[in-house]
Amino acid sequence: MNKIAVCPGSFDPITNGHLDIITRAAKVFDVLYVAVLNNSSKKSLFDVEERIYLMEQVTKHLPNVRVESASGLLVDYAKEKEADVIVRGLRAISDFEYEMQITSMNRVLDDHIETFFIMTSSQYSFLSSSIVKEVAQYNGNIAELVPPVVHQALLDKLGIQEK
Ligand code: ADP
Repeated sequence: MNKIAVCPGSFDPITNGHLDIITRAAKVFDVLYVAVLNNSSKKSLFDVEERIYLMEQVTKHLPNVRVESASGLLVDYAKEKEADVIVRGLRAISDFEYEMQITSMNRVLDDHIETFFIMTSSQYSFLSSSIVKEVAQYNGNIAELVPPVVHQALLDKLGIQEK
């Protein structure tokens, strides 16, 4: 039986921290759906098509990863994909409370779906899409924090000439 998992997130934009989690999850599951969330309550820098394009570019070497957009309840999306696992990354204690709340709610909604957490690699423990956008906005060096295609997309989006 195929082990199918969903890795959801805003990925606005994808960072090396996300990519690390996706790469490691792709080794464990037969099929990994990366669900790029189209969440209207969160204002994003990149629209969902741009986030999907960037995600496809940086995961194209991973044959069992499928990138899609998703909206609505995550458990409904997971069911539609016949996935019984949701994969999330964990950085610091600060992630814990939020993840605990979402995981508990998802379990109430559908107790056949388990959430698995992958601990961040230490070099990415401080890394988030928000911090990358903030540093990029002031022309700080983000080359080590995001894949090259994302780096270029950020410079273009923010209208910044590389130093
Ligand atoms: P969301 O808006 O749903 O929190 P994000 O795109 O910010 O989505 O993150 C998606 C997932 O990736 C979350 O589980 C988050 O904790 C995880 N994540 C984000 N940055 C990192 C990182 N540097 N290391 C490990 N996991 C991360």
